[in-house]
Amino acid sequence: MSHQVAIAQRMQQIKPSPTLAVNAKAKALKAAGADILNFSVGEPDFDTPAHVRQAAKEAIDQGFTRYTAVPGIPELREAICQRLRSDHGWRYEPDQIQVCCGGKHGLYNMAQALFGPGDEVIVPTPYWVSYPPIVELAGATPVYLQLREESGFDIEAQALAQCVSPRTRGIIVNSPSNPTGAIFSESGLRLVAEYARKQGWVVISDDIYDTIVYQEGVLPHILRVAPDLQDQTIVLNGVSKSFAMTGWRIGYCAGPKPVIAAMNKIQSQSTSNPCSISQKAALAAVSGPQDFPVMMKESFAKRLEVILAHLRDLPGVSCVRPQGAFYVFPNVSAYFGKRLGDKTIAGSVDLADYLLDEALIASVPGAAFGADDFIRFSFATSLEIINQGMGRLKTALAKLA
Ligand SMILES: *Cc1c(COP(=O)(O)O)cnc(C)c1O
Repeated sequence: MSHQVAIAQRMQQIKPSPTLAVNAKAKALKAAGADILNFSVGEPDFDTPAHVRQAAKEAIDQGFTRYTAVPGIPELREAICQRLRSDHGWRYEPDQIQVCCGGKHGLYNMAQALFGPGDEVIVPTPYWVSYPPIVELAGATPVYLQLREESGFDIEAQALAQCVSPRTRGIIVNSPSNPTGAIFSESGLRLVAEYARKQGWVVISDDIYDTIVYQEGVLPHILRVAPDLQDQTIVLNGVSKSFAMTGWRIGYCAGPKPVIAAMNKIQSQSTSNPCSISQKAALAAVSGPQDFPVMMKESFAKRLEVILAHLRDLPGVSCVRPQGAFYVFPNVSAYFGKRLGDKTIAGSVDLADYLLDEALIASVPGAAFGADDFIRFSFATSLEIINQGMGRLKTALAKLA
């Protein structure tokens, strides 16, 4: 007689990534022949630049195919230090850097190294889908800091105060944000810095979209409003978004030595090191010419204007102008309670399903980001698809009554 193997208790609260799930459903429909326009993808639609691909080919041909140092090859960590210094003026030593298998993996290592049962971690909401489960997998509890559409999804004093407890260990700030595209203001970040200083919080700054910014001037950052907090801050970045390298799986973390050392222990016992070939490719990206991210940003900026104009033309829809990243996050709650035939739209999940079935456009329901009034469209796709898809959206919404 065989037994059904028991699944760990821990897994009961963990859900698979909803954005990847929507993407999978859209891909399956497309494979079955449906004319799906996909606005659910969270990655640039550009190819990795040629000089980066070339570096990877050379790495293979030169036999750079063995285990590397656990925190990443020294020349890549050195190049990351130089990048952080020349772009931002921050000083890090190579032993303050961990290269990991994508930014998401860096966050995972961080949470495992820093948090445990009884700890609370503040997660500004709408949040990136992976923050809560990554915190929960460490045994800690996410505490949701509500950001309001009316204030451009910025951090506000009263809402932040409501999240603080003696158990608060830290906060995750993601600016520009996925899914809202918002950039936290200096005053919002100063509120965070004050608590961090008083209560010893760790600030995790997810800067993965920091090359995709549509506003002029210096990007507000926790280390710019509070340079004194460098020993309490961990910066997360990577090449997935900036160099269109999502499949290569390279991210990096910069932080205090003891935290990076603890993260290295976890990495040594799990993945050993990030892919050797991808590290060489990332080295070419980080240390080579930086015109590729600028070119991508300019292209996204044009698409943003087009998709925003479409959305703002829709009756009942409001949409905060994204200041960075490549997502729009319109409020679609005016359509909740409406119906077509026997289909009633109760919330964002129903609406995203309706749009996939009725308009053949794939989006991600706001519920996946802890904000059910909204829906996320990625505009990392062609102007042609944006125009066609938004036309379909308008028609589908108009059918609801
Ligand atoms: C894409 C993304 C990351 C990193 O993704 P990887 O593919 O794991 O490098 C991190 N944070 C946010 C908010 C993202 O959208």
